[in-house]
Amino acid sequence: MRTDFAQLRRLPDLLFPRRCPFCGSLLGPDALQGTVCPACVPEEMRLQHIPARLPEGEHDFYAVREAAAAYYYEDIVRTAVLRCKRGGCFWYARELADRVAVLVFGALPAKQPGKMPQYAGVTALPLYSCIVPVPPRQPLPGMPGLPLLLARRLGAVLGVPVETPLYIKRRGRPQKELTREQRLQNARGAFGCRPGTDLTGRRVLLIDDIITTGATASACALALLQAGAVEVTAVAIAAAEELPKSRKKPPETKP
Ligand SMILES: [Zn+2]
Repeated sequence: MRTDFAQLRRLPDLLFPRRCPFCGSLLGPDALQGTVCPACVPEEMRLQHIPARLPEGEHDFYAVREAAAAYYYEDIVRTAVLRCKRGGCFWYARELADRVAVLVFGALPAKQPGKMPQYAGVTALPLYSCIVPVPPRQPLPGMPGLPLLLARRLGAVLGVPVETPLYIKRRGRPQKELTREQRLQNARGAFGCRPGTDLTGRRVLLIDDIITTGATASACALALLQAGAVEVTAVAIAAAEELPKSRKKPPETKP
């Protein structure tokens, strides 16, 4: 019986083999850390946000204790996020969350595709009481939304429960149509915690797919603090920041 059960557990991986979130090709045993195909490795490494912590000057945070991202929101990272978010390929959320677990939280990467990174905990990092996804402003019908998918996988890796107290109180204009200043104003007060939410004494890890100005993350963090949370840390797959010079692509040289 045990053998049958083990085979059954492998069934989803056989039916839906894991794919590189950056290009969509099948991941084989040569995948980097079980998540990135060999062809995408140089670009994936070029776009890593090192250190993961976001610089204060680039974003307008308030209410957020600290923010971090695994990547810069450029090129193949941008494609991967959009494919997952708008392209209907939501299953890439698993690989993207695993990259966040490894690059932001220092989890031990999986050795093969489909396996979960191992997280033993780092004493220097605070322990989180719960992971909360940012509610999507334009959810696709019947879809849980990328932040929730990321939160579920990250929660499984880090061993932290996922909770969804946040909701959109007021739909302003889409953030991407606005200037930096307008984004802050537009997002402030746009999120709330559902009535009866009690986060007293909780340390919350807030998850979003992209951090642009920090306006959405900050507005969500404020709502969580108002519900009693003691601190909120924001983490995303990618941050929209200007690439450092050393990370920019060298100009094309003629052969
Ligand atoms: Zn690839």
